[in-house]
Amino acid sequence: MSVIAAISTPNAPGGIAVIRVSGEGAIDVAARVFRGKDPRKMEGYTCAYGCAYDGDERLDDCILTVFRAPHSYTGEDTAEFSCHGGLYVTKRILRTLLNNGAEIAQPGEFTKRAFLNGKLDLTQAEAVMDIISARGSAELKIAEGLREGAVFRKVNSCSKRLMKLLGDLAAWSDYPDEDIPYVEPEELSHELKSIREELNSLLKNYDSGKLLREGIPTVIVGKPNVGKSTIFNSLSGCERSIVTDIAGTTRDIVEESVMLGDITLRLSDTAGIHETEDIIEGIGIRIAEKALENALLVIAVFDGSCPLTADDFYLLDKLNAHRIIAVINKSDLEQRLDESIFQEKNIHTVFISAKNSSGLTELRYAVEEMFSLNEECFSTATAANERQKNCIVSALDSVTEAINALDRGEMLDGVNVLLDEAEQSLLELTGERVTNAVVDEVFSRFCVGK
Ligand code: GDP
Repeated sequence: MSVIAAISTPNAPGGIAVIRVSGEGAIDVAARVFRGKDPRKMEGYTCAYGCAYDGDERLDDCILTVFRAPHSYTGEDTAEFSCHGGLYVTKRILRTLLNNGAEIAQPGEFTKRAFLNGKLDLTQAEAVMDIISARGSAELKIAEGLREGAVFRKVNSCSKRLMKLLGDLAAWSDYPDEDIPYVEPEELSHELKSIREELNSLLKNYDSGKLLREGIPTVIVGKPNVGKSTIFNSLSGCERSIVTDIAGTTRDIVEESVMLGDITLRLSDTAGIHETEDIIEGIGIRIAEKALENALLVIAVFDGSCPLTADDFYLLDKLNAHRIIAVINKSDLEQRLDESIFQEKNIHTVFISAKNSSGLTELRYAVEEMFSLNEECFSTATAANERQKNCIVSALDSVTEAINALDRGEMLDGVNVLLDEAEQSLLELTGERVTNAVVDEVFSRFCVGK
């Protein structure tokens, strides 16, 4: 494969930047740019101090690390220039490498090569991108499990078991005259049910995993001045919404991803929902009501230092059907709110002081409980994205159909076809039998340099 090069560190000034070159001849390309030690004489997993040159022009001090095929990320000869992390100097070194025989790498091309060279299966390649985009330890744990091959191992074992069944069926039907034992439909059905269970377990925590990966669409509602913006700011750690003492100042929806412990909330801070004559405020309220329809979690905020008002009751009426956590804010002040209405409506309540950032742990527990986000979600092998999920679902459909066909006493030939379909779906999942279009689609989501 050709020699490709890209800057693997972010497109921003930093202490150090890394420019990666990979492919057959990568070390020769590096040798044309690096001076200090001859990279062609360097062994794999070694580095040398020197300088990058464009012809006779010295560009920067560098550490060059050499990896020899197949012992590199891509499985190919690879050289990495670690230089000063200035944007200009980094781009100059890349340009010089391109002028000396390398081609610019496409997004995800290093990882794609790792996949094509058998260093990773497709689920592990996808995990690399998940690791890069992980925002919290839960997401990272899920991605690490995937990277270590948790999903691959389970799928691969199902695939091998299917393959064995297919082999038995083929031998029996292809050589009817030989003394090959008849495949007992009952035994076959028993084995298929066990495979079905395994495949189902890969989907069990899919929804929770998705929530952990993508964040929970969340809306904060409450009448003006209860402290919604302050809560929002104390979660996001910066002043984004307008916080004032004048009721009704938060008019537009401000959206931001914030972390509540390990959980990402895709949080919308909205205008308070209450009855109003004010036209502009009314628009904000309608936007808030719309956001409510799309939210999976509603954090309804009340001011614990005042008795509930007509606006609070109006809001509670609107919220009946939603997944609500009632947050009683301003717990640092004298409490004058009667909570019995929340008990009557069976609404989970949490007391916090947004001003002092206290009570946020209890809020996290409430969210974890509501969405069953427990240790199991990120410790068990689970499909990590729609592509993987769809492959498992279609394998499951075929296996279930095969079980039903056996129950109806149908011919084993038909069962054979269904098992073959299931097998194809699993091979597509791991990437062992996959179209170029699927591979291109997977890697198109990667960043340049990975
Ligand atoms: P919003 O209209 O619901 O967004 O309310 P704001 O976040 O703008 O807060 C209204 C007022 O309540 C501001 O003066 C905040 O400083 C104050 N506030 C918010 N949270 C607390 C809290 O936990 N304790 C106290 N004592 N005041 C708070």
